Amino acid sequence: MINVQVYRYNAERDAAPYMQSLEVPDEFRPRMVLDVLEYLHEQDVSLAYRRSCREGVCGSDGMNINGKNRLACISPVADVLEAGDSLVIRPLPGMPVIRDLVVDLSLFFKQYERVHPWLINDDPAPAIERLQSPADRAKLDGLYECILCACCTSQCPSWWWNPEDYIGPAGLLQAWRFIVDSRDQATAERLQRLDDPFSLFRCRSIGNCSWVCPKGLNPMGAIGHIRRELFRSGT
Ligand code: SF4
Ligand code: SF4
Repeated sequence: MINVQVYRYNAERDAAPYMQSLEVPDEFRPRMVLDVLEYLHEQDVSLAYRRSCREGVCGSDGMNINGKNRLACISPVADVLEAGDSLVIRPLPGMPVIRDLVVDLSLFFKQYERVHPWLINDDPAPAIERLQSPADRAKLDGLYECILCACCTSQCPSWWWNPEDYIGPAGLLQAWRFIVDSRDQATAERLQRLDDPFSLFRCRSIGNCSWVCPKGLNPMGAIGHIRRELFRSGT
């Protein structure tokens, strides 16, 4: 059997959070952590967690598994157990817990909105689409794939200390995605909005964000690009 420790908290029932010790059969080793949760949920329907596509695309089931933020649906149990004898499953750190493994992402999305994550272009819309050269399109690779799972921001110490003021790695990756887009006309305003002590510059370049991103993206690299662009433009 595999020992599983799951964070539990229901404000209507529990005086304080606690870790629940459970077991699943060994046959779950080649399966995903989400399969373990589904199995446990069949035994106890009160266990709360988010999930949707189970393909690593929707970004719903980000959680902390054996100390590292991951998507439960694409995390093989055997891989996680290389780092310990038990599966230890907690909610994303640094986010208020609503219940069990479900966290409140309101502040995460509020920070995301601050970077105006949409194309700004006042030219009349062309008949079909705004064209880009293949080289300009390639600049968006490694940026557009973000699924907003919050794994990076929730693993970022600067976010833990300043969640109201620091945009965090996910939002900043998206800021760079639009700054670098050849079709966008708001680069100067975008840079100006980030030029204060907290929004961008609270990043300490430790790299937790890039370490945990389940899509293999590099938010720390994007943050470095924005810093260099700010210095280069003299904004
Ligand atoms: S590199 Fe910056 S954004 Fe990434 S975890 Fe460290 S402080 Fe946070
Ligand atoms: S950058 Fe990676 S970890 Fe961060 S929200 Fe996007 S997909 Fe998730």
